[in-house]
Amino acid sequence: MEQFIVSARKYRPLTFASVAGQSAIAQTLKNAIERKQLAHAYLFCGPRGVGKTTCARIFAKTINCLNPDANGDSCGECESCKAFAENRSYNIHELDAASNNSVEDIRNLIDQVRVQPQIGKYSVYIIDEVHMLSAAAFNAFLKTLEEPPAHAVFILATTEKHKIIPTILSRCQIYDFNRISIEDIVAYIEKIAKNEHVNYESEALHIIAQKADGSMRDALSIFDQVVSFCGTNVTYAKVIENLNVLDYEYYFKLTNAFIAGDYCTALLIFDEILAQGFDAQYFIRGLNSHFRDLLVCKDTRTTALLEVGVTIAESYKKQSEICSLAFLFTALDIVSACDAGYKTSSGQRLHIELALCKLSNITALHKTVQQPVANIENIEKNTKGTNTQQIAEQNNTNRIEEKPQNNIKLDEAKEKTTVAARPETPSIKGFSSLNESVNIEDKKNEKQEENILQMSEEFTEEQLLTAWKNCAATFVQKQARFASAMTAAKPVREDDNIIVFNVQQIVQKNALEEKGIAKSICLYLQKELKNTSIKLDVRVDQSGDNIDAPKLYTDSDKEKYMREKNPELANFQAAFELYDAK
Ligand SMILES: [Zn+2]
Repeated sequence: MEQFIVSARKYRPLTFASVAGQSAIAQTLKNAIERKQLAHAYLFCGPRGVGKTTCARIFAKTINCLNPDANGDSCGECESCKAFAENRSYNIHELDAASNNSVEDIRNLIDQVRVQPQIGKYSVYIIDEVHMLSAAAFNAFLKTLEEPPAHAVFILATTEKHKIIPTILSRCQIYDFNRISIEDIVAYIEKIAKNEHVNYESEALHIIAQKADGSMRDALSIFDQVVSFCGTNVTYAKVIENLNVLDYEYYFKLTNAFIAGDYCTALLIFDEILAQGFDAQYFIRGLNSHFRDLLVCKDTRTTALLEVGVTIAESYKKQSEICSLAFLFTALDIVSACDAGYKTSSGQRLHIELALCKLSNITALHKTVQQPVANIENIEKNTKGTNTQQIAEQNNTNRIEEKPQNNIKLDEAKEKTTVAARPETPSIKGFSSLNESVNIEDKKNEKQEENILQMSEEFTEEQLLTAWKNCAATFVQKQARFASAMTAAKPVREDDNIIVFNVQQIVQKNALEEKGIAKSICLYLQKELKNTSIKLDVRVDQSGDNIDAPKLYTDSDKEKYMREKNPELANFQAAFELYDAK
């Protein structure tokens, strides 16, 4: 059986040109070699797996090559290069300071430094994880670093530059290695995959690159792992399964649900994700990235910041078209706050579920312009700091037409906020606040707007009557006279959902209105019938039959009269055991 060599070793770059993602550093080192301006000490800083040791090795190999080519690269054929290729060169010495950090280890190294190389001009000493050296070892090393023999070159590598003492720093040329971009990692893995005759989906490689978080070494070991799991066919589905990555599809579905105000679907999807064993905070961070990715898709200048495969990029572009900037900014706000408060939350699942509900409410919130005062403040809070972008969006978006029909005069900024927060989808039920109308509409969406305005459920006479009775019942205990007034009158429904409440005397009307009872009745009906357009009109019944009616003096007279007028009252009294209804 053929021996398996991990990709990170098998495909370790041999020339500066083939080092992925560090072209600036590679070029600088190469230039220094060409100009023969070699320093005695280099410090390579940067995260793990980004090519520090690889560059150090190429550097050592190149400065020792006996026949460098015209580009200044090593020939790969001379004795020195061969020795490097076969890992038997005496010109390179590697010390892993993580496990050899004592003074003794450094003294051994210093002893070696004195020995002249046999082939090539330089002896290169690579000290990996140099920040791990003990203080005593550092001091022992300092002397050699100050006055090294002419043939010695030190390359110190560290992931934690801040732990290197200043006396060392000041004696080194410092190179900061960056994380390798997803694009560079993907390109590199693609090459390897082709070489190994592995079929792949671009999305799958992107997932690997994302998981590697800028480290090429990690990316290559993940790739090896995935290949041993998938065989020669590396698909997106298999990769996310193997790496325990949450499918993008969930985020797309969730966002659709948010836009549609469908919090039920959102909660169910979240439940499904948890059921699959995903960590809730991992999910919420993924959701945040999703909104960020949608945001960068909104403008062609930022689409390059989207680091996903081609097919998924297409889905992002599509979804970003149906998300307004205002939606995305508010969504990012909500999700970031959710992430920040997650650890300290006492009910973590609920914490996220609430955020999902808020996200589902954004569209509705943005649609309702004429808010009760408290809601206006909310909107301002939610969209604070985003006005510039919204205005920018407004400028970019010619399809928005402004047609204000102000009932309440909002200031201009507020209007702009609301225009930007243009409705996305029709008919969101159940999100109405107690506002009466919306004063800005998009011509194109005029019809949809109407639906949203009504945001109300139709109700029948029967339902109205039931609600009316239920409402009356709420007064029975403490304000019985209003209960009887309601019971005495049958609600009359007029156009535009005006409910007429006929009372017998002006005194009743005044009492109902002054004590805010009329208002609470109205709110009760709105709530119970799920229709915010309901208005209550209290009228004094002038319609004849009571003008000549006998004066009613006692309570029992009144009760008797009312029972005659409205037989329902008897049932009502019986139901609530007010007193024996004979
Ligand atoms: Zn050579």
